[in-house]
Amino acid sequence: MICCSIVAHTKEKAIHDMPRSKADIIEIRLDYISELSKGDIDEIISKKPCPLIMTCRKKEEGGQFKGSEGERIGILKKCLKADYVDIEFSAGKEIISELTENKGSSKIIVSYHNFEALPGNIEQIFEEIKATNCDIVKIACMANSLEDNLRMFELIRKAKAEKTDIIGLCMGEKGEISRVLNLAYGSYLTYGYLEKGRQSAPGQLSCEFLKRVYGADKLDLDGLKIYGLVGRPVSKSRGYIVHNLAFKEMELNAVYVNFLVDDLEEFIKNFKGIVAGLSVTMPYKQEIIQYLDKIEPIAKKVGAVNTVSIRDGKLVGHNTDVYGAIEAIEEKIKIEGKNVVIFGAGGAARAIGYGIVEKKGNLIIVNRTAEKGKKLGAELGVEFKSKEKIDWQNIDILINATSVGMMPDINESPIEKEYLHNMVVFDTVYNPPITKMLDMAENNGCTIISGIRMFIYQAAKQFELWTGKQAEGIYGEKGFGVAG
Ligand code: NAP
Repeated sequence: MICCSIVAHTKEKAIHDMPRSKADIIEIRLDYISELSKGDIDEIISKKPCPLIMTCRKKEEGGQFKGSEGERIGILKKCLKADYVDIEFSAGKEIISELTENKGSSKIIVSYHNFEALPGNIEQIFEEIKATNCDIVKIACMANSLEDNLRMFELIRKAKAEKTDIIGLCMGEKGEISRVLNLAYGSYLTYGYLEKGRQSAPGQLSCEFLKRVYGADKLDLDGLKIYGLVGRPVSKSRGYIVHNLAFKEMELNAVYVNFLVDDLEEFIKNFKGIVAGLSVTMPYKQEIIQYLDKIEPIAKKVGAVNTVSIRDGKLVGHNTDVYGAIEAIEEKIKIEGKNVVIFGAGGAARAIGYGIVEKKGNLIIVNRTAEKGKKLGAELGVEFKSKEKIDWQNIDILINATSVGMMPDINESPIEKEYLHNMVVFDTVYNPPITKMLDMAENNGCTIISGIRMFIYQAAKQFELWTGKQAEGIYGEKGFGVAG
């Protein structure tokens, strides 16, 4: 079940929000409601659109409750008509027994939160909570590494094997994957938020995204293929939207998550047997090469890997950026024999430059740091020039492969308006989809190509490499219309 955790400052708002969540189950955080009057709890319960968990967290457990512990326990006792009541393990065994003995038809969740770490003795804590005679054990701990998620999954598996209901998850950005995958491992539920800015715990994802994008409630561990993005940072990427929507469209038991990696070697060691394929972004596009069993010729030539597929347990490196860029350009113009300028000398410029040379375009490199531009020009066997020395009348294709114009600096352009005439202008930047440079170029009558086209083509290629299935028609721009 996907549970929407509702944080609202008034009873009226909580009641208003309940049907909006469209979740399988709702948690009402009573500690957020500033003044609970007599009858409020009954009214909330009577208006529930689905099963309800009533919770009233104290400060030490990440809550907002300002009253005394006696008042808090009194509130939880009044909730015993609800489907579930969540009480912290730290409330003490006596209080917990009082609730379990008088629970009626309610189920009692006994919860343990640790906002610092997943402690070494978590199995022992699990056993102690289980011994309280509760219906469901809840364990939520901060992940300090991606490997903490694996420990949490192990705990969920153990509980499931013992037929104990457990809600297990890791908090924080490194714990995000547990919020998507815990249901597949057997967690009783996973929590999500209703609206941005209303998270009730660190690292929580949107309830709507858990259902509609990740399909977290439909994943089956038996045969599940886990894909993901390896990088630091990873939060700005849109890959998880386009890939998960594609998996859903193809009805695959597959999911794509973000792996915020601090130590690539550790990650490969611990996750190699778990993942079915990877996207790789900054700063690991070069570093990943040493951990691969094989590297495809294009990726080897470019010197960067943005995709890893797994063939017979072996890691194979690919570069789909080259394919993505060339497809995006050739949708509008054939490259062979055309005069092409690329701004930039980083990873994207190298990949696209390689593709342009392969397609027999006549390439010129322009870059802010001349030294780097000259080096790339020499590697690709093409000219490096300053912008002013180019005969712009003869240029057919201009490509921005720098980050200039990217959010938040959306009013910047790597080139002035007067240069932009009679050519195809392609910006690799995809946020915003139409950059200042593209806007000026379109106004001057140029044909423009958004970085989104490249992103979609390279993602579709990744899908084909990972699944062996055709991606045609299932990757589109809708993933970019979905707010992240
Ligand atoms: P990178 O390796 O860090 O290279 C950055 C390049 O941008 C360098 O040439 C750098 O010049 C230049 N640059 C940065 N700030 C500049 C400024 N203020 N003025 C002039 N030049 C500047 O990055 P990358 O991986 O190549 O990525 C470059 C762009 O490609 C990014 O916007 C990224 O989003 C985009 N990209 C898009 C896709 C897609 O699918 N659409 C895929 C990959 C990359 P110096 O050498 O002088 O530092």
